[in-house]
Amino acid sequence: MNQNPAIRTRFAPSPTGYLHIGGARTTLYNWLFARRHGGVFVLRIEDTDEVRSTEASVTAILDSINWLGLDWDEGPLDLEREKGGSGSYYQMKRLPLYQEHVRRLLDAGRAYPCYCTKEETDAARKSAIANGGTRPEDPCRRLTQAKRREHEAAGRKPAVRFIMPDEGETVVEDLIRGRVRFENRLQPDLVIQKTTGGPTYNFACVIDDHAMNISHVIRGDEHLSNTPAQMRIYEALGWLPPKFAHLSMILGPDGTKLSKRHGATSVLDYRDRGFLPEALVNYLALLGWSTSDSRQLFRPDELVAAFDLSGCQKNPATFDPVKLEWMNGEYLRGLAPAEIVSRARTFLEAAGFVPQPPGPPLERLAAMEREKFKLLKDVPERLAFFYRDVEFSEQAWGKVLAAPGVKDVLLGLVELLDRFEPFSDKALEAAIRGFCASRGLKPGQVFHPLRAAVSGRTEGPTLFLMLELMGRDMVVGRLRAAAARLG
Ligand code: GLU
Repeated sequence: MNQNPAIRTRFAPSPTGYLHIGGARTTLYNWLFARRHGGVFVLRIEDTDEVRSTEASVTAILDSINWLGLDWDEGPLDLEREKGGSGSYYQMKRLPLYQEHVRRLLDAGRAYPCYCTKEETDAARKSAIANGGTRPEDPCRRLTQAKRREHEAAGRKPAVRFIMPDEGETVVEDLIRGRVRFENRLQPDLVIQKTTGGPTYNFACVIDDHAMNISHVIRGDEHLSNTPAQMRIYEALGWLPPKFAHLSMILGPDGTKLSKRHGATSVLDYRDRGFLPEALVNYLALLGWSTSDSRQLFRPDELVAAFDLSGCQKNPATFDPVKLEWMNGEYLRGLAPAEIVSRARTFLEAAGFVPQPPGPPLERLAAMEREKFKLLKDVPERLAFFYRDVEFSEQAWGKVLAAPGVKDVLLGLVELLDRFEPFSDKALEAAIRGFCASRGLKPGQVFHPLRAAVSGRTEGPTLFLMLELMGRDMVVGRLRAAAARLG
């Protein structure tokens, strides 16, 4: 792989909530692009919204990205430590840099202090809309020095607005969407510094992308409309903008923008529901990107080798939870049984199966059942009956065991198996088939009650291997108990 440290991407979350599916996909594409080109992947925390930013969100975002296995080269490691580069990757620790550049723009006449109150700004916006006008008046643009002094004397703290051109267009050459044109007369003068002295997102983002030498800004398409103003700021500061790539929107299965209404959308929810990070990464990679052969399964290193922005689609991508589960099952099946047990550890612990309770080794059970696992939480769920008292499903008790003649069958099996040797699947199968024949019963008339009595369920692992792994004491004990319960 080429090493090209000039390729620098970043993920720049605002820590105002969890890392959700959309943010995770943005992280992944930035990571893939950087890794693919031997570049640098930067993580920057955009915490300038003092009201909504929380440390808990920072931690959740870092945990999520770590869990996904997407390592970054520069950025925060936790709330205290950072790595790579020089200076902080928390925007709130970079305030002097933004203030210095606001000053530069003010001095160059490219920005002006704005004393309008929120009410005045809102009213200007409303009247602009009412007049069929396109852009609200910015009365402070043409404020006389005397008027400014008056405001200052009255103790009004100004915001700072950046002057957008009145005419012409700003053209974004987007690597995914192609050329997108914006009419300048529709763009209001952008607030770059709030009355609190802090920068707005659009401004801090430009200053940092430049300071951090970001070569490619890959982000969600909700930021496409911010891009023309950002490009104008680069220009005013005499800088070249990075390349932009805006990723298509993600829709839920019902065709509306993916949101909480569609169920779990935070990455940590997926972890807690038993998804494997490599499966989620694979799934997210295909949410808006594909190869010409529509290949579906890619391990992370294969994604790095195959990923390219030219494979990213403009059209919205639809999130399909069924496909994600299928993919997770594919990855789970590919793991060695010992690995399944170790990856399912938190779920096994929660079920009380660590340390392993008396009974068949978890690993052997995982080997037997691995075709059926879709999520890690299925591991304890599907194996619980080996370690816990049998709980009969409605079907098992009401339909299978309640059928006429079943009690006799169970007692016959007790007699057959009580001293049966060797207690191995092949021998058991032969003996039980012989039992069916000797009683003139169809296999199903014996196999179904047998399974229901020892497991409480009507489906599960292959019957005879299951019996072997349970061992004689458990099998015979459970057959006896079921027969007794039948009365
Ligand atoms: N902080 C912005 C967000 O979380 C980042 C936008 C960008 O990538 O430029 O949406």
